[in-house]
Amino acid sequence: MLTGPASGDGGPTEADWAAAVAAVRGLSAEARVLLICHVNPDGDALGSMLGFGLGLRRLGVRRLQATFPGPPELPESLRWLPGADLLVPAVEAYPDPDLVICFDAASESRLGELVDRLDTAGAALVLDHHASNTRFGGIHLVDPRAAATSVVAGELLARLDVPLDAEIAVGLYVALTTDTGSFRFEATTPAVHRLAARLLATGINPGDISRRVFDTRPFGAVQLFGEVLLRARLEPAAAAGHGLVWTYATLDDLARHDQRPYVLEALIDSVRCTAEADVACVLKQVAADEWAVSMRSKGAVDVSRVAVALDGGGHRFAAGFTGRGGVEEVVGRIRARLDEALTAH
Ligand code: 5GP
Ligand code: MN
Repeated sequence: MLTGPASGDGGPTEADWAAAVAAVRGLSAEARVLLICHVNPDGDALGSMLGFGLGLRRLGVRRLQATFPGPPELPESLRWLPGADLLVPAVEAYPDPDLVICFDAASESRLGELVDRLDTAGAALVLDHHASNTRFGGIHLVDPRAAATSVVAGELLARLDVPLDAEIAVGLYVALTTDTGSFRFEATTPAVHRLAARLLATGINPGDISRRVFDTRPFGAVQLFGEVLLRARLEPAAAAGHGLVWTYATLDDLARHDQRPYVLEALIDSVRCTAEADVACVLKQVAADEWAVSMRSKGAVDVSRVAVALDGGGHRFAAGFTGRGGVEEVVGRIRARLDEALTAH
């Protein structure tokens, strides 16, 4: 398997695009195509995968599966996406597809138990936008300047002459709004709005989509958020005075409020608004001594450096990793790396 450092370049070359187009166009009528997105899929992972999958279907690809590692469970906020009928549980995924296409995964570890498909597939195409992408797989469409993986997916569909329709557009739009924070983040470039305009022109309803994806949550989750926010800690001196705010949610918290783990994905947004801290962290317990850590920065600290140093990945303003040990232990490791992320240039 090919791995190497992130190139930090400007994205795919014309040769990369041509290789990707040829990989899709060269598929026989009987070819099996497997789409994989990262574990715990978010709107970008799932939206780009399903939007692109519907595009492949329009091209006549009949033997087509979409999947992701881990339990085959999606948040309610994403279950309704067009193309969800392409989804199969990871255990049912083609063991040796003719083509595997990965979405929004910065490294092989994000593919979990499906990582072996990189070796068993006839060819492996990677669509991503993480600067920390390790260049796994064979054909790379990795554009660190793209606001979302769906920008890359949309470009590839255009190069394959697949016209956008409303069903394809919904997935790509969910992806775009997820990773730009509904057009609020720095990544919101003219290219983002140009793609958004093309997607909206298909007739999709942005109000309805946003309400379903971002503004709907069970009352139990509202109360759980209240409890978890109340225990948040502010450390103004951390990150060399730029400040750190953090909190954590345990499996017991989830059980008491009868909530599923994915409801915690939105929690970081309520923590990162803290004015006194540049960096925000949420530790989400996944096992006795294991935490899925989300980090956000307002810009003084490059949190992807912290995440990569702790075997995770992500972007400058949003990154994550898996932390092992107790809460204080994991936060202690973050604190130490925060200082390094500021001083090591
Ligand atoms: P989130 O905090 O929303 O889960 O993730 C923020 C960003 O960090 C995303 O771009 C995501 O891909 C990346 N990220 C989160 N957790 C991990 C992880 O455990 N490993 C890697 N490589 N990237 C992660
Ligand atoms: Mn993404």
